[in-house]
Amino acid sequence: MNNIVENLTTIKERIRTACLQAGRQESEVRLLLATKTVPADKIAAAIAAGETLIGENKVQELRDKFDALQSLPHETHFIGHLQSNKIKEVIRYTSCIQSIDRIDLAEKLNTRLVAENKTIDIFLQVNTSFEASKFGTEPGQAVAMAKQLQQFSQLRLKGLMTIGLFSTDLTRVAQCYRLLKTLQGEIQGSGIPVPELSMGMSGDLETAIREGATMVRVGTAIFGQRIYPDSYYWNEQQSAQ
Ligand SMILES: *Cc1c(COP(=O)(O)O)cnc(C)c1O
Repeated sequence: MNNIVENLTTIKERIRTACLQAGRQESEVRLLLATKTVPADKIAAAIAAGETLIGENKVQELRDKFDALQSLPHETHFIGHLQSNKIKEVIRYTSCIQSIDRIDLAEKLNTRLVAENKTIDIFLQVNTSFEASKFGTEPGQAVAMAKQLQQFSQLRLKGLMTIGLFSTDLTRVAQCYRLLKTLQGEIQGSGIPVPELSMGMSGDLETAIREGATMVRVGTAIFGQRIYPDSYYWNEQQSAQ
């Protein structure tokens, strides 16, 4: 557990330095802990160290860790691909769904929330890397999608989320993040406030902060390597194997 606290210190130092270099306030960037495959006791150690925001990719993991974490002060976002048959469960465990990328999903979510007399925060997920394997709305559809999402009474659109290119070529990664920032400008220009930009991970959070991230999602650099490849979480075909 010691190394979790150490790793958190390192990550926060990286965030601080990146903000400084980008001429931004440290308080403008929130750290979300990407906790897929991480057991509840390790998450609890991070919460004890002062972290309050976690993100899970699988409904199964939300359910499994819920009891152990319930009494600890934290907020949980859903950052994985959401299948509509999991809506009912996901809204029980999370305050925000960052992976809304299709209208039929938003519609089903809204219907369920009406029935439960609840509202939820959402982010529109955009596929900024144009890879067929990645989820997310096509960039060209993002403005139209944001407009449509506004129509749903129980959904509070807070911002945009992207995974971006998974590459060590940070120039190409930066292009993805810059595109998300551009789309934010276009959406806001049409009168829809989307203040949050959720982008940046362990390997590229400095790039994301430079391009305007308000939330970075960090897993590996805090909790260590995972046994599953990320494609297990990001690509439905592969996860079905
Ligand atoms: C796993 C994951 C992250 C964090 O990735 P790391 O490289 O482990 O920091 C961020 N966002 C999403 C959607 C993820 O699934």
